Amino acid sequence: MIKENLNKIKATIPEGVTLVAVSKTKPVSDIQEAYDTGQRVFGENYPQEMRDKHEVLPHDIQWHFIGHLQTNKIKYIIPFVTLIHSIDTANLLEAVNKEARKHDRVVDCLLQFHIAQEETKFGLDLEEARALLDSEAFKQMENVRICGVMGMGTFTDDMDEVRKEFKHLKSIFDTLKQDYFADQKQFKEISMGMSEDYPIAIEEGATLIRVGSKIFGARIYNKQ
Ligand SMILES: *Cc1c(COP(=O)(O)O)cnc(C)c1O
Repeated sequence: MIKENLNKIKATIPEGVTLVAVSKTKPVSDIQEAYDTGQRVFGENYPQEMRDKHEVLPHDIQWHFIGHLQTNKIKYIIPFVTLIHSIDTANLLEAVNKEARKHDRVVDCLLQFHIAQEETKFGLDLEEARALLDSEAFKQMENVRICGVMGMGTFTDDMDEVRKEFKHLKSIFDTLKQDYFADQKQFKEISMGMSEDYPIAIEEGATLIRVGSKIFGARIYNKQ
């Protein structure tokens, strides 16, 4: 099933959009199956789980961390993570920078924005992002590289609302690109869209979509 699901989704994704296969809570055997069909980019939400999977799976997998990240757990993922989607405070970015320096790495990160109606979701607003990017502390950070933005739409059937939120994230991206990253090619990623709304996200400019249950089936349990 995983193979068919992946092929079906990949057939609908235009060039320039990367599929992040979200494998949180799923066993290593499921990831291996997706890998065997050619999938190389996987997303995980829990630091220790991602580390454990990284240790036993092929090392050409690109691991994206997409969940809420606590500073005391950064150390589990910094040695190998390809992209952290979920930078939602200046403190977190500073802590990632510090850990990355220990490993002599420059770690690619996205700034997560709060675009949904639910208060429970994490993320910056534009003003907070500006404060971060303008800060002296940020200018000193040599071991992180900001590559774009990420957001999660409201959990709703109202696709007009979700589309509005994706448009909002795209406008944040455009503003930051113009004001802070105009001459920086790496600032190009817009991570938005999940199983239920990724086609809309693609229409609204997503470059990374994060799809879990449409590939691996419903999650039986959810540690969050
Ligand atoms: C779990 C998760 C996804 C994937 O969700 P599905 O609805 O299963 O596709 C995408 N993004 C984030 C941040 C997630 O936590």
